Order: sequence, then structure tokens, then C-alpha cells
Amino acid sequence: MTIDLHLHSTASDGTTPPGELMRLAGAAGLRVAALTDHDTTAGWAAAAQALPPGLTLIRGAELSCRWHGEGESIALHMLAYLFDPVHPALVAALARVRESRLGRAERMVALMRADGIDVDWADILAHADGGTIGRPHLAAALIRAGLVADTQEAFGPRWLGNGSPYRLPKEDLDVFEALRLVQAAGGVTVVAHPRASVRGRVVPEQLFGQLAAAGLDGLEADHHDHSPAERAEVHRIAAELGLFTTGSSDFHGTHKKVRIGEFTTAPEALERIVAGATGATPVTGVAG
Ligand code: AMP
Ligand code: ZN
Ligand code: FE
Ligand code: FE
Repeated sequence: MTIDLHLHSTASDGTTPPGELMRLAGAAGLRVAALTDHDTTAGWAAAAQALPPGLTLIRGAELSCRWHGEGESIALHMLAYLFDPVHPALVAALARVRESRLGRAERMVALMRADGIDVDWADILAHADGGTIGRPHLAAALIRAGLVADTQEAFGPRWLGNGSPYRLPKEDLDVFEALRLVQAAGGVTVVAHPRASVRGRVVPEQLFGQLAAAGLDGLEADHHDHSPAERAEVHRIAAELGLFTTGSSDFHGTHKKVRIGEFTTAPEALERIVAGATGATPVTGVAG
């Protein structure tokens, strides 16, 4: 049973529409696929409608969060599964984050234009087609302008990555607030790629104990941004805290090289997600 619990569609910064993503997931041999777009549930309906027979959809999202520790704060991503998509406080929080992403991306574009970089905000918005805006949309504009060869280069220090003068912060949710909101909406929570040092600073290990005490359910261990040592570290931390672990592709279409189902989750972890959730149910595609 192949289970991949972290996939992005054009509802955020993936390049595959949600329905097409479900067809690809079925063709890739998945039995269970989670749709986890950044800060939105906008792709849920289209994904549920397009399920091939026998493929089960876990409806989810990836919440942009921040830990405000001592000194500098650190960004982290929280996967949320099977929560109530109309829970008012959660809906409002996600809308706030998406709004802040819009303003931030527009300001980043203005900074680039002021430096003579040929990117256009209206054009970027049109290409995003209503999906949650992120730096991959700006990367795509840089590629269209012929300024970089690929997304990887666009995420270098000259353009959109760490150390870039154009990289601006967005207003993330406090990670404990996000946890409370998802719990209130009946969802299950998993910290995404918690040890991905290639992306920048990672949170201290003690935070996972605090989050576990506050009701966190799992940690994503097997992910392409984790080295083998980082994967092992996440498995150890989860075992010590009684959290389950997941493995997932974090598929983004053509933005990244990773394939659907390249990393997978054990059935026991999926059982804990389904058993722990009260906000939404898995949906399975039926024939005809
Ligand atoms: P943002 O949420 O706007 O800060 O952009 C972060 C998103 O950019 C992540 O969710 C990934 O989809 C993507 N991303 C981050 N780093 C890279 C990279 N080095 N190569 C390709 N995509 C990346
Ligand atoms: Zn993304
Ligand atoms: Fe992420
Ligand atoms: Fe992701």
C-alpha cells in the first residue's frame, strides 16, 4: 500500500491542477494521497471529484508557521490533515496568511523591478490563477524572463533564496496557535521536514517536546530535503516523544525533481491520522 501524504497542486505553488494531480497519483501506484497545499483548502473539491477508483484522498494543508523562541524566530511548516475546512478561526487565519503572502510577493516584485529585473506583478498573478502565492511563482517569472535556467537557480542567493536582498518575510502563524486551531477544527498535525537544514535554520529539538505536550501528533521524517542523518534524527526524536513519523514526496510538479511516491508513509501512521481526526473523512474514488 503506497501512501504519500504531502503533495502540492496549482491551488498553491505546485504546477499540476488538483484533479490532474490525483490522476497522476493513481498512475504512480499510490493507494493514498494527501493534498497539502500551502495555507489553503481550495483544491480539495476538485481533487475529491477526480479520484481514480481505489485511490483514497486525505484532505490536508501545509500551514506556514513560525516559532518565536529566544532571539531570532524560525519558520517551520505544519502539515494538517482531515480538519474541518469551514472552522471559522482556522479559515480566518489561513486567509490572513494568504493575504500577507500576496503583499509580500508584490513587494518582492517591486524590489526586483527597481533593480531593473524584468518581472511583472500582473503577469505573475495571472499565472498563479488564484493559487496561494509563493516564491515558486516568482521563480517561474524569472525563468520566463530568461534570467535563470530553473527553479533551483532562482532559489539561489542572488534571486529568491537565503541571503537575497529580494527575499522578504511573510506573516506566518505562531506554531502553537496553528496547532490549537487545527486541533479545534478536528485535524491531525505533523511538522513538515523538521530537520531540513538545506532550507536554513531549523528549530531546536526541545520545541518538539513542547509541541508534543501541546498535542502534536507526528513528524515528517523521510523527505528529500533531509540527509540520511537528519532522517534518522527525526525517527529518534519521534520515538522518544511517542509521535508517529511520515515519509512523503512534497511533490510540486515541475518545480522540483522529486517524484510522486518517492518517499512513503507506513500504514500504521495513516491509521493514527484517520483515527485521530474528527474534522473531515478520507474520500475514496469509486468506479464509474
Ligand atoms: P515561500 O512559501 O513563498 O517562502 O516559498 C517556499 C516554497 O518554495 C517551498 O514550499 C518550496 O515549494 C519552494 N522552494 C524552497 N526552496 C526551494 C528550492 N531550493 N528549490 C525549489 N523550490 C524551493
Ligand atoms: Zn511549496
Ligand atoms: Fe514545506
Ligand atoms: Fe510542501
